[in-house]
Amino acid sequence: MSYISSILPNPIEYLKGVGPQRGELLRKEINLHTFRDLLEYYPFRYVDRTKVEKIRNLSGMEEYVQIRGRIVHMEVVGEKRAKRLVATLQDESGRIDLVWFQGWQWMQKSLRENAGYLVFGRLSQFNGILQLAHPEVDLLTEETATGKQHLEPVYYTTEKLKARGLTAKAIGKLTHNLLEQMSLAEIKENIPAPVLQQFRLMPRSQAYFKIHLPATEEEARQAQRRLKFEELFLAQIRICRLKIRRHKASQGFIFNAVGDTFNTFYNNHLPFSLTGAQKRVLKEIRKDTTTGHQMNRLVQGDVGSGKTMVALLSLLIAIDNGFQGCLMAPTEILAQQHYKGISELLKDMPLKVALLTGNIKGKARKQILADAEAGNIHILIGTHALLEKEVKFSHLGMAIVDEQHRFGVAQRARLWEKNDTPPHILVMTATPIPRTLAMTVYGDLDVSVIDELPPGRKPITTVHRTEYQRPQVMDFIKDEVRKGRQAYIVYPLIEESASLDFENLTKGYEEVKAFFPEPKYYISMVHGRMTNELKDANMHRFVTGDTQIMVATTVIEVGVNVPNASVMVIESTERFGLSQLHQLRGRVGRGAEQSYCILMTGNKIGKDSQERVKVMVQTNDGFVISEKDMELRGPGDIEGTRQSGLLDLKLADIVQDRAMLQAARDCAEKILSEDPELELPENKPLHDFLATQRSKSAWSKIS
Ligand code: ADP
Ligand code: MG
Repeated sequence: MSYISSILPNPIEYLKGVGPQRGELLRKEINLHTFRDLLEYYPFRYVDRTKVEKIRNLSGMEEYVQIRGRIVHMEVVGEKRAKRLVATLQDESGRIDLVWFQGWQWMQKSLRENAGYLVFGRLSQFNGILQLAHPEVDLLTEETATGKQHLEPVYYTTEKLKARGLTAKAIGKLTHNLLEQMSLAEIKENIPAPVLQQFRLMPRSQAYFKIHLPATEEEARQAQRRLKFEELFLAQIRICRLKIRRHKASQGFIFNAVGDTFNTFYNNHLPFSLTGAQKRVLKEIRKDTTTGHQMNRLVQGDVGSGKTMVALLSLLIAIDNGFQGCLMAPTEILAQQHYKGISELLKDMPLKVALLTGNIKGKARKQILADAEAGNIHILIGTHALLEKEVKFSHLGMAIVDEQHRFGVAQRARLWEKNDTPPHILVMTATPIPRTLAMTVYGDLDVSVIDELPPGRKPITTVHRTEYQRPQVMDFIKDEVRKGRQAYIVYPLIEESASLDFENLTKGYEEVKAFFPEPKYYISMVHGRMTNELKDANMHRFVTGDTQIMVATTVIEVGVNVPNASVMVIESTERFGLSQLHQLRGRVGRGAEQSYCILMTGNKIGKDSQERVKVMVQTNDGFVISEKDMELRGPGDIEGTRQSGLLDLKLADIVQDRAMLQAARDCAEKILSEDPELELPENKPLHDFLATQRSKSAWSKIS
């Protein structure tokens, strides 16, 4: 313990230059409560004031410039409201006008003709002539004569703060006051020395000073790097510790046998060989289920990467160890599809597979419930109907959730309650969220990635077409249908204006129908306003090939598998997000045929939409798309990532700094695997720091 009592927890109003009124404003406007908050209120950029330009050399391309000269002329020009002060500054190379539109009376009083000034400001043009509007001016002294000797930090501020004199510059001044009062000893190191060395990070105390007052760009960069790493590293240490604790606390079934069921299927009935990625993920699952702790694993795999087979093989391992398994899908259609597919694959094996959805009622339902409870069903497939209390198992060992983003965390947790010892949980998702984000927001879930598609897939050809080209698009669909293929035409859906969407869809349907008249063609339509029965019936007609064209809203987005469909037309593409577009496109390209995705837009589209269309046309890789999506939208907006606020990152950005995040993650894992309780002397700084942190209860809420 240090004998220096820290000033950092002091309320902000006690800082020199603040006081009660400004203190109140700082709290309200930018959430600064204590000295520490101010210390961690980092500049968002720096301006280089170490350089002084020659007026003649200014090209107009510079943003901020610093010049030094003498005011040779001053005059107020213009009438009434357009009145302004123009001061002409001259250096040895030329002249430039400094202009004030506001507060010019005061400037006029304080500036002196023939005095020398150091001037800094944003360069602008007026009638083609360069000028500086509202620059900062400092009378030339010995200190300012050579320019300022550090970079000037720029802080975010607000109109209300500025009205009280708390400009960016004034906030910098407050920070300066604080740093002057502080002693280096107040800022204790919290990263173990070997890590500091490995990543060449500057000490914590130094970083806090240098981030506010760097002498050079490089110093600023190094200070930021150190503090970013600290944020990411501490977050990862917390996540990993939580995970370790959960693992320790949770009991899980031990699957130590891979037996007859698995082997027979694998050797005799597997219709293809597994991809390397499928094998790797299976090994990870296998390993999890032998530890004696509950598995909680997320499998991420792009659309069509073969997650179902991984699920099935995992279920077979559970069966080999005397357990039952279940597979839950988000929609009736998907559950049915899984049921049919899996029953077909297992048809020569002595296993009982059953389907339970809301539509299965009466006697059939009773029988299934009784069989599950008696342990006669090996694999129960279903919708969220599986979560109901009446669904009981005699010994559920493995619960798999498909397309997990459609289910809430709470729903998933209900699967655990089916036994005294919770089943192993595997959640599968095709919403490709970037790896870095997954490892951050899914907290204590282990993440596996199927990053390889089965061989022989033909990449989907994606093109962009506008309204002008609609007739050609329709002709193209006709050609494909003539070849025996099927097509989807998808319309966007926006919750706020469901009726408008419905109108669009019906209009679209009529339009399509005009191109594809019965009885030569048949069209299915599926939308959110239909009853489930009607939806399923229409879907079914498309799946069986009775209809060639499916006109739908995004209800078909997830999981549907119609390998004969080769065209996906997306209407009003500009209204879809990138990951949604990718999901939709994934509905085609599932068979052996070349498939096409046609992105329809209006003739003129915005810049963001253009960017999304471009990405879609360029790549089929879901991970590339999700990284891009995150770049365009920011991580906060991506599905399933709302918790990321918990990370409390001030400097680091999980997109920009993903390489550093990965390094911090690896580093945290290594430390905790060698020293789980942080008892080694070298980990003492970290241990002590964590002990002083209020317990962040929010963490336990992740996942
Ligand atoms: P998703 O990951 O989108 O759920 P699926 O499990 O539905 O993908 O698999 C998509 C298609 O690829 C299915 O028709 C499946 O039979 C096939 N498939 C899966 N794994 C392989 C593999 N290793 N080799 C060849 N085809 C495979
Ligand atoms: Mg699937």
